[in-house]
Amino acid sequence: MFHKIKNQLIILILFVLLAFAGTVIYLKLNEKNLIHSISEESNIALRTLIINNLPDNNNSSVDLLDDKVLERISKITGSAIKIVSLEEQSSLIDYVSDKPYISYAIVQLKNLTGTTQKILFAQKESTAIKQKYDSIKKEYSTLIVIFLLFTLTITTTLFLQIVRPISTVIASFVSNKPERLKKLMYTKSEYGVFANFIKDFFDQKKNLEEEVKVRKITQEELETLNDELEKRVEDRTEELAVTNLELQKERDQTKLYLDIAGTIIALLDCDGYIQLINKKGDEVLGYNSGELNGKNWYDTCFSNNNKSKYKQQHLDVIRGKIPPVEFFIGEVITKGKEIRSLIFHNTYIKDANNIFSGVLFSAEDITELKLKEKELIEAKEKADESNKLKSTFLANMSHELRTPMIGILGYSDMLMAEIENENHKIMAKAIHDSGQRLIETLNLILDLSRLEANKHNIDFKVVNLNELVKNVTFHFEAAAGRKKLFLKLLIPSFDIIARTDPRMLRDIMNNLVNNAIKFTNEGGVFITLEVFHRNFIIKIKDTGIGIPKESIDIIFDEFRQVSEGIGRGFQGTGLGLTICKKYVALLDGQISVKSKVNQGSEFSIQIPLFNEEISEDDIENSENISESLTTISENVQINISKGSNEQEIKKSILVVEDDSTSRDVINHFLKKVYYVSFANDGETALDCLNDKQFDLIIMDINLGSGINGVEVTEKIRKTSGYRSTPIIAATAFAMLGDREKFLSKGFDHYISKPYLKPQLLKLLSDILN
Ligand code: ADP
Repeated sequence: MFHKIKNQLIILILFVLLAFAGTVIYLKLNEKNLIHSISEESNIALRTLIINNLPDNNNSSVDLLDDKVLERISKITGSAIKIVSLEEQSSLIDYVSDKPYISYAIVQLKNLTGTTQKILFAQKESTAIKQKYDSIKKEYSTLIVIFLLFTLTITTTLFLQIVRPISTVIASFVSNKPERLKKLMYTKSEYGVFANFIKDFFDQKKNLEEEVKVRKITQEELETLNDELEKRVEDRTEELAVTNLELQKERDQTKLYLDIAGTIIALLDCDGYIQLINKKGDEVLGYNSGELNGKNWYDTCFSNNNKSKYKQQHLDVIRGKIPPVEFFIGEVITKGKEIRSLIFHNTYIKDANNIFSGVLFSAEDITELKLKEKELIEAKEKADESNKLKSTFLANMSHELRTPMIGILGYSDMLMAEIENENHKIMAKAIHDSGQRLIETLNLILDLSRLEANKHNIDFKVVNLNELVKNVTFHFEAAAGRKKLFLKLLIPSFDIIARTDPRMLRDIMNNLVNNAIKFTNEGGVFITLEVFHRNFIIKIKDTGIGIPKESIDIIFDEFRQVSEGIGRGFQGTGLGLTICKKYVALLDGQISVKSKVNQGSEFSIQIPLFNEEISEDDIENSENISESLTTISENVQINISKGSNEQEIKKSILVVEDDSTSRDVINHFLKKVYYVSFANDGETALDCLNDKQFDLIIMDINLGSGINGVEVTEKIRKTSGYRSTPIIAATAFAMLGDREKFLSKGFDHYISKPYLKPQLLKLLSDILN
């Protein structure tokens, strides 16, 4: 850097000195010239003075000029005068020509004929001027030498500093060797700043040339484009005018649509300011039309508690920090400070650069719905509580009704068998039938609650429908006979095999046939079985009282009957058809009814056969309907005959039961077949185990105030010799899930109270044999 500056300084100084020397030379030259011009003037003045002092100007002749005249003129003019021949004239002039400090005059001397024969030469020398002239001449020469020296120095310097780099640079350019040029640029110390100047100059020149070239092209293109553009702009302006008009129309139309909309629609910019809000929005928020435009949506329409939360959410989405929130429920505050719940559906809008520019949302006012929802939740909570109470009540009632039923059914059964007086026998039977009816009602209620809880398991089995229908018909023959009604069965000659739940199907048929007989006083009942496509259809048609048109729709509802209130003419709970309908639906079928008052009714069920993949083996192993659906009375015979086999060694049974009536009844049921011991509570039962080895234990669950049946069973299982002794849970806890619960607590079997003698005997004989 310093080096560069130093070079520049030296060159500058040299230039200054050169200029100075030149100036001085110029001045000196001027001075010299001045002396010359003075000399010229004095020459003229001298000549004039001599001529004026000649005796006769017009006739000057050598003869006239004697020595006196010459002396006088010499005196007057102060000059030396001599007369010389014409030939000497040029040598005289040569002599004075480079001597400006000498004033001289040459006067031609003519003879009388006017011919010039001689000349008069006068000279006058000024010592002062001579000195001056000599010093100027000397100084002038010195300065010239100095000037030449400066010039030489500068030329040398320039050659070194400029000419050489220039030539090198130009040579580089000419030879097109940029590397060399580059190198030159690096060797600044050698070439100084000028190389850079020149390089810059050339670079800039080149750039400028290129730029000019490009600009020229660009300008041409621009001009073409401009023309095109102008044309297009013209066209576009016309188009825009039309489009603007259409847009305006569309905008008006859109506004109209938005205002018609039943939901709030609004457009917010990226900072949350309202760009547009429809009429519904103004209405719900309590503002006049246009009042909300330009206001910040969050600051204006949200309470202090949540405005910052929603504002932040809006900004976070717009800035891409969180994904778009498309749906949310929030509370807004109206102009009248009322809080309203809105459900928002957001659509985030993006600009041409794919950056979020705002949000368009629709919002539904759900304030009323929310209130209703709250009420509904409260109502549901109450309903749930009531339902829980109902379940507890049902469980308790079930338990409490079932327990005494053991006594009623058991004793009436015994009385029927033992009493000989016919009237008393009829009374005992009435007691038994009433008890039975009560149990059936209880079972219906429990079935319904199980169905409502949606926990009814479907047990699909391969079923011979001809057998099942025949069997059900057979069991109702006695009841029909008692009312003097016919019971006709119409079934196809071939077997119809289906995969269905036989127990449910039997329950459905039982209900329908039971109703048909119940509501028919004359004529009878037709039962038909047929196949239609991949379904089987069972029809139960009676000639009974029929169902009025207006009641057809209600009879499938819970507890509904055609004849209701205190004047109702038939017994029943009104649950049978409800359960039938639910069972049929569980089996994927349909139930329908056709009826005419006083002519009869026809109930028809249509259920899929599901028999596609039934093999011959499946049919062979199919449910033995006649066996599984045998009546209780038949069972009694079977079991009692088995149990009373004298040859058999009697087994010992321990019955743990706190209710004395139940103990008594069970004793009557079992005493002829087994050795029966009783324990009133858990502790006694455990003591009994030490006295004797029992083959089976019948355990009640609720044993009053002491330990319960489950706990006793747990202890029994820990007693030696009783690890695998069969224990039956015999209980009035017969609600949904109770069986499974007890079986998982160490019991081997379960029987619900009230059970009849044949049921208990069958279960015991199944276990012990
Ligand atoms: P329930 O028979 O215990 O009253 P259901 O649900 O079985 O209950 O029947 C509901 C009602 O439908 C009956 O009370 C009766 O009014 C009417 N109903 C059912 N079956 C018949 C039928 N075969 N003939 C006339 N009415 C019937």
